[in-house]
Amino acid sequence: MEKLEKFAAMGLSETMLKALEAKGFEEPSPIQEQTIPLLLNGNSDLVGQAQTGTGKTAAFGIPIIEQLEEKSDRIGALILTPTRELALQVADEINSLKGSKKLRVLPVYGGQGIELQIKHLKKGGIHIIVGTPGRIIDHLERGTLKLDNLRFMILDEADEMLNMGFIEDVEKILSQTPKNKRVLLFSATMPQEIMNIAAKYMKDHKVIKVQKKAVTTDLTEQIYFEVCERDKFEALCRILDMKVDFYGIIFCRTKHDVDTTTSRLIDRGYDAEAIHGDITQIQREKVLTRFKNKKLTILVATDVAARGIDVNNLTHVINYSLPQDPEAYVHRIGRTGRAGKEGTAITFVTPDEYRKLMFIKRIAKTDIKKHQVPEIGEVIEAKRERIRKQITDIMEKGVSEACRDFTHDLLLTCENEDKNLEDLIAAILEFALEDELDEKNYAQIRQIKSKKNEKTRLFIGLGKKDKINPKKLAEIICSGTKIPSKAINDIGVFDKFSFITVSENDANTIIETFRHKKGKNKFHIERAKELDKKRKH
Ligand code: ADP
Ligand code: MG
Repeated sequence: MEKLEKFAAMGLSETMLKALEAKGFEEPSPIQEQTIPLLLNGNSDLVGQAQTGTGKTAAFGIPIIEQLEEKSDRIGALILTPTRELALQVADEINSLKGSKKLRVLPVYGGQGIELQIKHLKKGGIHIIVGTPGRIIDHLERGTLKLDNLRFMILDEADEMLNMGFIEDVEKILSQTPKNKRVLLFSATMPQEIMNIAAKYMKDHKVIKVQKKAVTTDLTEQIYFEVCERDKFEALCRILDMKVDFYGIIFCRTKHDVDTTTSRLIDRGYDAEAIHGDITQIQREKVLTRFKNKKLTILVATDVAARGIDVNNLTHVINYSLPQDPEAYVHRIGRTGRAGKEGTAITFVTPDEYRKLMFIKRIAKTDIKKHQVPEIGEVIEAKRERIRKQITDIMEKGVSEACRDFTHDLLLTCENEDKNLEDLIAAILEFALEDELDEKNYAQIRQIKSKKNEKTRLFIGLGKKDKINPKKLAEIICSGTKIPSKAINDIGVFDKFSFITVSENDANTIIETFRHKKGKNKFHIERAKELDKKRKH
């Protein structure tokens, strides 16, 4: 029974292992892994929390079955469930888990004739009762159910019992059970009232929580861009240029895509490396070491090649090609937004792939929001802001003697050549930046026509220096125009300006409204696209 190794290692009986095999269980679920050993040994009470469908029934069912004795003719375990369906379901699960062990399980719920239940109870030989609180109380009051030898009392789906108003009943039942039983409480959620019950009725109990398997972390912002296949590369460059601290993996579907994307990136001046199945092991390790040390910040990879890369503090994961399935999506983006750091997962979708993305979104149960690819003007503004910041930082820190010395020299040259300070600084920038700020570096991206809901990116002349944050900016725009805040998307706040995305309609309203404002409510608003055009002239 090699398959059931982990179960066997817990010391389960041969009978139990056979039953598990017959049920097709191969290994314990996380909640089972933690609770079964605890319940097989010692005497502590237990609170177990795990989401629905994680095998909580077997988590308590297995150890109870193992510990109850066939020959005992007293009820050894009472399992309370909120509904009759659940009572039947749990009774079935217990019956199949007990295998050939001669234990009798009796479901006792309201809606079934009480006479028949009384008959069964009177006959005796029942080891486990699975019941709903109301009917159990009924039997206790009639004296047809005796719990004086009870060893285990289980509150299953405790949060549901609470929601259905059974808590008083549950407490009443608890008060009629012997002192030295073990109380086990299982629930998918743990509201305060449940913790209170635990505190009141349990002896120094253990709490076992199995975290909901995070499909994606809350720290990962998930967005998608709708772009044509041939515009993907341009969109990628704009993203890389917007984010100076970009540290991420760009996922492509095929080796060929990985190679082409990487060489195009290198041609355009980025330090990027590729990994895929055809890359030698030595090269792969070299690349990965550089990547881990952040000497390399752009890695282009196929899913298979990226498997097993244990870098998890990425700022970005880019799905340059859509992942094959929801699982691959979750796997890819799970590499960002970890260890308390925020990250962004960006997915490129072509119009043809839109439905597949929605499928991924549904199955992976994640929220992926549509954003606009940054406009050229936005990218250039971001770059300028970065350069401005770097220059002011240097001024703040102080410039080296050598540079200062050279400055005097250059100022003299300037004078001799009959040029002014502006000429000089512009020339120095040209020298240092080359064509870094040239819009010609960027190609136009085709707008994808979605019939209605045309979106517009607006430039707003308010930024961090005006004590603006995304929330405040939305408030200013909304209170001025009565546009609801949820209509304002994709807010980017920079030092001296911000960008927002709104519908074309709202864009008109906003521009018109603020055009007529005066005083401190007066600031520059214009379409980001027009900003691009102006620059060209
Ligand atoms: P929960 O009470 O946590 O919602 P259940 O106990 O109803 O979950 O179990 C859900 C399903 O998973 C049941 O069909 C059960 O047989 C099955 N199951 C439980 N544990 C395992 C396991 N270790 N391996 C395979 N299937 C399991
Ligand atoms: Mg359950």
